[in-house]
Amino acid sequence: MCSVGGGDFNIELEQVEMDRYKCKDCGNKFDGMGEKVICPSCHSANVIRV
Ligand SMILES: [Zn+2]
Repeated sequence: MCSVGGGDFNIELEQVEMDRYKCKDCGNKFDGMGEKVICPSCHSANVIRV
């Protein structure tokens, strides 16, 4: 099989455990981790894990 390039998938994503959060202020859903998670959209700490 000839190499045509672009077929080499390198997964460079780090294997980190990300939790799904939702901001109760603006409703934004995002991935977060750690103890203090804030909304990346409105910087509110009023978020819940979903
Ligand atoms: Zn928000």
